[in-house]
Amino acid sequence: MEGFSSLAQIQTALVSRDLNLSDLVVDYLKRIEERQELNAFLEVFSEEAKSAALIIQEKIITGTSGKLAGMVIGIKDNICYINHKVSASSRILDNYTSPFSATVVERLLAEDAIIIGRLNCDEFAMGASNESSYYGPVRNNADLTKVSGGSSGGAAVAVQANLCLAALGTDTGGSVRQPASFCGVVGLKPTYGRVSRHGIISYASSFDQVGPITRCVDDASLLLEVIAGADEHDSTSSSKSVPDYSEIKPSSVKKKIAYLSEALHSEGLDADVKLAFERSINSLKAEGHTVEPVSFHFLEYVVPTYYILTMAEASSNLARYDGIHYAYRSEKGVDLESTYKRSRSEGFGPEVKRRIVLGTFVLCAGYYDAYYAKAQKVRRLIRDKTDEILSEFDFIMLPTAPTPAFTIGESSDDPVVNYLADIFTVQASLAGIPAISLPAGNNKAGLPLGIQFLGKRFEEGSLLSFSKDIEELLEDQ
Ligand code: GLN
Repeated sequence: MEGFSSLAQIQTALVSRDLNLSDLVVDYLKRIEERQELNAFLEVFSEEAKSAALIIQEKIITGTSGKLAGMVIGIKDNICYINHKVSASSRILDNYTSPFSATVVERLLAEDAIIIGRLNCDEFAMGASNESSYYGPVRNNADLTKVSGGSSGGAAVAVQANLCLAALGTDTGGSVRQPASFCGVVGLKPTYGRVSRHGIISYASSFDQVGPITRCVDDASLLLEVIAGADEHDSTSSSKSVPDYSEIKPSSVKKKIAYLSEALHSEGLDADVKLAFERSINSLKAEGHTVEPVSFHFLEYVVPTYYILTMAEASSNLARYDGIHYAYRSEKGVDLESTYKRSRSEGFGPEVKRRIVLGTFVLCAGYYDAYYAKAQKVRRLIRDKTDEILSEFDFIMLPTAPTPAFTIGESSDDPVVNYLADIFTVQASLAGIPAISLPAGNNKAGLPLGIQFLGKRFEEGSLLSFSKDIEELLEDQ
């Protein structure tokens, strides 16, 4: 990766006047223009970004700038920004303009971040390869024939290819962490409730969280500090005070880390990923950390539980897109009902339709107890067992994904095979705990690999401090 790798570097250069913010923005805009084949951006806010740079440059000179002055950031296309288009990469929201901003956007702007554009993603954040986007797949900058991962694929590639310094994605079952691992960057999913969901286009409301994708742990910490905290517009946002995550130093205390023995033997685990995982265990041990296997018998249930619950929630959340309230309306409708049917049939892509249908099925009266209610109970068991492990250990360690980035167009025709690839990311989502994916070198073909650490609820601080301590160790091994 070329270019600046942290906001601290940029701010130092801005303050010493070795760098001018307008030049930096123009530089990013130039690269976005040159790298259009990546398909990371759906829209670039060029003029706005340039005007903001002038204003913020002045503030830097007068010493009145916010914490994020100098940060050029992209936002996933499911995060609302007032008077800007937002589509969740779906035809049904094509040309929809948001009448308000997400709380996270307001918080970014209040600290002088420059939002440079909106980033491609899987349709309604449903997917793990960015191939379900109405606007086409995003290409991995490590190998243009490979997927970016998803659903925050544009966000991960934009950071990987240095088209912006950082990005905000959303993570329902891995959508920040998995593309981060495919692209060799840092991805953090905060505790459920740590960050406001107000203004995020909902997929599965009891799972969705906004998270940063960055080139280093320091920037992830700073971004979390800015976006986290209570919000009167989101009753599920926590009122717990927000620590100064950016002040956190690398931890020097030796940690006790569990890894799930079932994970190492899981079907479909790529040999290079397994090797990188074992190598990471050894490097951590060599640094004096304790790393021990624990058994987690629920591993085979995490994917079915996650999909039953998220599809149920999605079927309810997506009912609002009816051709009347929002954006796309079919011209073939002749009355109210056919307008609903036609607009939804033409507006949604196949993966979204599949999930709406399945979600409606698991919620219908005759099957509710057999699927939805049962999955809720299993979710509780998974959460309790995860908490139990974390009462004895500081962190749980897992590969982020079972494979490196795969070839575009190669995803299985069988959706279940694709869903199973989420096996290592959905546990943290079901349990509502924080998790981070850190780059852990490349495979022989030069494709990035990621290692994931899960922490205790609302203890992002210790997860970040540990991550700061080991980020170089993992990257360079
Ligand atoms: N791949 C998972 C899914 O399709 C996760 C998506 C996400 O986190 N938004 O549901």
